Amino acid sequence: MKQITILIPAYNEEESLHHLYNRLLESTSDLSHYAFEFLFVNDGSQDATMEIIKDLRKKDEKVSYVDLSRNFGKETAMIAGFDYAKGDAVIILDADLQDPPELIPEMVKYWEQGYDDVYAKRRSRRGETIMKKATAGLFYKLLKRMSQVPIQENTGDFRLLDRRCVEAIRQIRETQRYTKGMFSWVGYHKKEILFDRDPRISGETKWNYGKLFDLAIEGVTSFTTAPLRFSSLMGITVSFFAFLYMIWIIFKTIAFGESVAGYPSLMSVILFIGGIQLIVLGIIGEYLGRVFNETKNRPLYFIHEYNEERVMNFNGQK
Ligand code: UDP
Ligand code: MG
Repeated sequence: MKQITILIPAYNEEESLHHLYNRLLESTSDLSHYAFEFLFVNDGSQDATMEIIKDLRKKDEKVSYVDLSRNFGKETAMIAGFDYAKGDAVIILDADLQDPPELIPEMVKYWEQGYDDVYAKRRSRRGETIMKKATAGLFYKLLKRMSQVPIQENTGDFRLLDRRCVEAIRQIRETQRYTKGMFSWVGYHKKEILFDRDPRISGETKWNYGKLFDLAIEGVTSFTTAPLRFSSLMGITVSFFAFLYMIWIIFKTIAFGESVAGYPSLMSVILFIGGIQLIVLGIIGEYLGRVFNETKNRPLYFIHEYNEERVMNFNGQK
């Protein structure tokens, strides 16, 4: 019998877990020819999330869990889940029920037809502010234009991955992860399905604009070097005009003699070029910081406990 793992990263989700568990049971009941594993990755929750998961485990052998040693963020929680998932397919699902489990049978249907990555695209984003929708739209537009790999717009992590996609992503051990880009990057046979994203069932989103901005920078810097190219172009353009201006000054001095005036123009040129230099340095710094972080080659996460012994090395690889 083939096995399907439902991977659920959970951070302070005590209010939705029981509800989630019931809806998972309901929506997988028609797929009795598969063995299911509900794998919860507790991402250092401070509330009763872990206790609830353990209670569920006592009642139901299908439930398993990995308890991370602290809050590492969803991207890292997901790779921990990939490392521990046993299924021939893995379905990533948010714990707050924004991703309806009722879509699971449809995903499985396409998996049976041979697709490796069945991703759910949002037809609408209910319960999200206009500001969030607008910034998300702008970000996707920019990223798509800059990066070489096609990145699916309005698509979250809610998807079914075949074992071979999971194994591919497990080999990407970057510390600063932009998993959504990795799904595209690894390739394989993809299928899109549409759904309406529900508002959170309870609690609040863990993403604030600061964190979203971080993730956006992650997305750009880990999948494209376009900003570096942009800074070279900007440097060339500015030095071209600076050169023209220099010629003009030399010509003017020879023709009309030297005058003491010129403080405003001098100041504006210095400030303008200084500004450009700072921007360019900042961009280089962003990339250099990433090089620094990756060369440290640290393990991605540590485990506090899990329900079952599995032999892993420090990088979580079997
Ligand atoms: N999550 C996590 N670690 C974190 C933040 C979030 O594992 O540090 C989980 C969270 O429990 C949820 C999923 O990631 O299952 C999505 O989080 P959230 O609902 O806050 O994001 P949004 O739906 O607003 O994008
Ligand atoms: Mg959510």
